[in-house]
Amino acid sequence: MPKIKGKRIVLTSDVTMMSSYHGGVMLGFAAIMPRRALPDFVFHKFFCPPVPAAPDGSAETAPCGMRKVEAALLEAGFSRDEVMVAHPQHLDQAIGPDTRIVGITHDDPMGKIAVREIEDIIGRGPPFNRSKFLELLTHPLIRQFRPKVVLGGNGAWEAMGEDVGVDHIYLGEGESDFPDICSKIISGEDVPPVIRGRTVAGDAIPVNRGGTIGGIVEIGRGCWRGCAFCSPTNRAMRHRPIENIVKDVQVNLDNGERDIILHCEDFFSYGYSNAKPNEKSIKKLVSAVKELQPKTIDVSHLSLASVHQNPRLLHSVSQIVGIGSSQNHMSAWIGIETGSCRILKMHMPNKARPAETDNWPEIVRDCYRLFADESWLPVASLVLGLPGEEAEDVVKTTELVDSLMDYTGLMLPLFFTTIADTKLGGRKGFSREDALPEHWQLVGLCLEYNLRHLKKLHRLYRERMTAGTGVHTALKGINLMADLVLNKYMKRMKRGEPPN
Ligand code: SF4
Repeated sequence: MPKIKGKRIVLTSDVTMMSSYHGGVMLGFAAIMPRRALPDFVFHKFFCPPVPAAPDGSAETAPCGMRKVEAALLEAGFSRDEVMVAHPQHLDQAIGPDTRIVGITHDDPMGKIAVREIEDIIGRGPPFNRSKFLELLTHPLIRQFRPKVVLGGNGAWEAMGEDVGVDHIYLGEGESDFPDICSKIISGEDVPPVIRGRTVAGDAIPVNRGGTIGGIVEIGRGCWRGCAFCSPTNRAMRHRPIENIVKDVQVNLDNGERDIILHCEDFFSYGYSNAKPNEKSIKKLVSAVKELQPKTIDVSHLSLASVHQNPRLLHSVSQIVGIGSSQNHMSAWIGIETGSCRILKMHMPNKARPAETDNWPEIVRDCYRLFADESWLPVASLVLGLPGEEAEDVVKTTELVDSLMDYTGLMLPLFFTTIADTKLGGRKGFSREDALPEHWQLVGLCLEYNLRHLKKLHRLYRERMTAGTGVHTALKGINLMADLVLNKYMKRMKRGEPPN
């Protein structure tokens, strides 16, 4: 006899998504490492420790998207007794004969997005995120009770066409249609294998019912810039009212989170009006969050064009947050993508707006100077192998990165991946076989940049991290080892040769 009846709707994910990352969300990058490169215990102990579990087997913190789905289900009339955000290591307290749906949220379930070249460079098999996701799908209780598995989240498209045991792929926003889909599944109605959730208005994005990993608080969705390879741009841009954002901050603080990351595709687009950042709304938002006294405040993403358009605003935000007094720095993901104005024009014609596309490298450099002056740490992405990219375009990107080498941050060269439903969705993705010597030189330079700055980043990030001295000492050791191990790959690539 099973021990429990199980919750009707179990929301969960694998341990690469359900991790505290020791309070340093960047440690989550370890999930893209090949599984054979690190023993499991090192991976869990030092990079992706599981989130804390409550005595009932629920997860004490969860990805923000999962919390939104949980809140939407509860608001739609499902009872707390029917819905559970379950800890992946305690599914025996969640899944039973009554469980009809296991809803999995994932950003990169098949390891198709993030830094795929690492798989090529190290050549040691599939990454942790894919392995752990597939392990979750074959969990003995899922096999025994056969609930319908619904995969949602930013990376749900990756499972399209893959025979991995997912019953339904849910694309788009969960709050609009997921509760209805659950009702249909529970009542035995037919539900298509691929579901496209509609968008919800900014003020209809619900307030969370529990803490989120990293203290992530959503402030808006969508982006108007329309880059051809990007999926968030398919969603209309909307923002949440300040009072709902503040409630989510408070929920996090009440649940023990100390650090807050305000999330949308471009922080400076909050309250966007008259084609420029809405300085008043942004300052009001940051002041309202600051009043609740989190230990640190960060933003998830910033558009360089928005920063460039209004550099004073970055300074004002830094002052309200209290860089230098309350916290030592702020960080944000930014998209450089390319140093070639030709490629920018071809695939990202609005990326630099209102500035001219032809000034892109100078805009990037101006922003980096400003970030350094204001103590912001940029984590930048580059996209390699966009359709039409020639050797000279790659050289321009390399020259741009070379000019930024002294500014502290991270530089992530990503192979172009075709994401379903984007303008370039039908094109072939970029792979090792397509790489020119110039691509390897660029990847090698990014590796040199990252190795140069990792130790300082670790030092600065410590104020957000919950890890003890032992873990920090080990991370320092791993950092030094990475220097030794990755140096030979870096040298080869900088000569224009493949890494192995
Ligand atoms: S600016 Fe960023 S979020 Fe917006 S469309 Fe381009 S890549 Fe996507």
